[in-house]
Amino acid sequence: MAYKEAFCSFCGRKKNEVDLLLSGTEGHICNHCIVQGNDLVQQELFGVNTFEGEKKKKKKKSELPKFDLRPPKELKKYLDDYVIGQDEAKKVLSVAVYNHYKRLMQPKAKDDVTIEKSNIIMVGETGTGKTFLARTISKMLQVPFAIADATVLTEAGYVGEDVESILSRLLQAADYNIELAERGIVYIDELDKIARKSDNPSITRDVSGEGVQQGLLKLLEGSIVSVPPQGGRKHPEQKMEQINTENILFICGGAFDGIDRHISKRINKQPIGFSTDKKLDSVWEKENMLRFVTQQDLKSFGLIPELIGRLPLLTYLNPLDKDTLKKILLEPKNSLVKQYKKLFAMEDINIIFEDEALDFIVDQAVIFKLGARGLRSICEAILTDAMFELPSEKDVKEFVLTLDYAKQKFEGSSYYEMKLVA
Ligand code: ADP
Repeated sequence: MAYKEAFCSFCGRKKNEVDLLLSGTEGHICNHCIVQGNDLVQQELFGVNTFEGEKKKKKKKSELPKFDLRPPKELKKYLDDYVIGQDEAKKVLSVAVYNHYKRLMQPKAKDDVTIEKSNIIMVGETGTGKTFLARTISKMLQVPFAIADATVLTEAGYVGEDVESILSRLLQAADYNIELAERGIVYIDELDKIARKSDNPSITRDVSGEGVQQGLLKLLEGSIVSVPPQGGRKHPEQKMEQINTENILFICGGAFDGIDRHISKRINKQPIGFSTDKKLDSVWEKENMLRFVTQQDLKSFGLIPELIGRLPLLTYLNPLDKDTLKKILLEPKNSLVKQYKKLFAMEDINIIFEDEALDFIVDQAVIFKLGARGLRSICEAILTDAMFELPSEKDVKEFVLTLDYAKQKFEGSSYYEMKLVA
């Protein structure tokens, strides 16, 4: 048998899919099957209970799934398949993620150069794809991913969640495998909501603001943290796990409403129309001011300098205009239109979305200020009747979603009435 074709005679994995392949007279055995075999021997001959959970916790490094790290350009290309626009954020994220995992895969440095990790902060209106970007890249890398909401965090001892609960969630996402969790990705949403409320740091205790920022520091900077595996304070008896956050990548996001005022002030921009340079005015008018955001603006907004220091990469997202929303309906690999086409095809029905109907859906998302997040609910409100009725009508082979149909169904839906009231 040619060397490169060698494979495990027990599980069939090829040589390049395993860490170790031992040869015998008749074939080969890989490290996975050796470990599994050893467990069986322990259990059968010596009665040692290899409890599943315990086994997972004690997984050796060699058993961690192989890491498929692709260069930043490829990472971005993958993101392009799912996330529309936001090129700058995608680029920053791809480079950061690439460098982070490259650093993590390096053997211990012989020289004095240690590459520090680069947590990221993304600034952009709600619903522009911050969480989606973080989730998509984690999915590609197949690393554990957890989302935490900064608004529910409070300083230890106060009602709310301790910052450690973030790591409990990551541990759960890693199926309690500590080593896996230790190289996962955490997305912390709404970081802007824990900004210091006033410039004066210590007149009253700021339970949900500065205190939480201080708490987060310890996670972000890379330290060993005691984590209640089941989260919360409801299980005081649970044994704490020690998690090293040094290789966990933290991505933070927030809308930072009003930060544009800090940006304008810093770049000393006159309000539109008052500047002497009309050309500059019109450039800025069209620009997303967040493009110019710096660490200094985050500080003026109320983030403490130590926390900003732990988030060295700063990027922004653009608001979603109508064109982008329409692309979101059509283009991503699992776009809503593609999903509905597949659903209807399962009933042997070809669904056709007329262009005007798509424009109508986008317009409603804009009118009701729902952004990309609202596209799905609007489509559901429009298509529910068709999805209810058509599966029973065997002779229908085509369904055309016209503007009139979309209008009639959407304006007659309870979703529309609810939104009018809200
Ligand atoms: P944010 O975290 O910025 O508030 P999300 O990432 O949660 O927003 O976006 C909400 C949903 O809208 C996502 O799950 C995704 O389906 C869709 N979406 C938002 N922005 C984009 C985009 N640029 N491309 C494709 N889908 C998007």
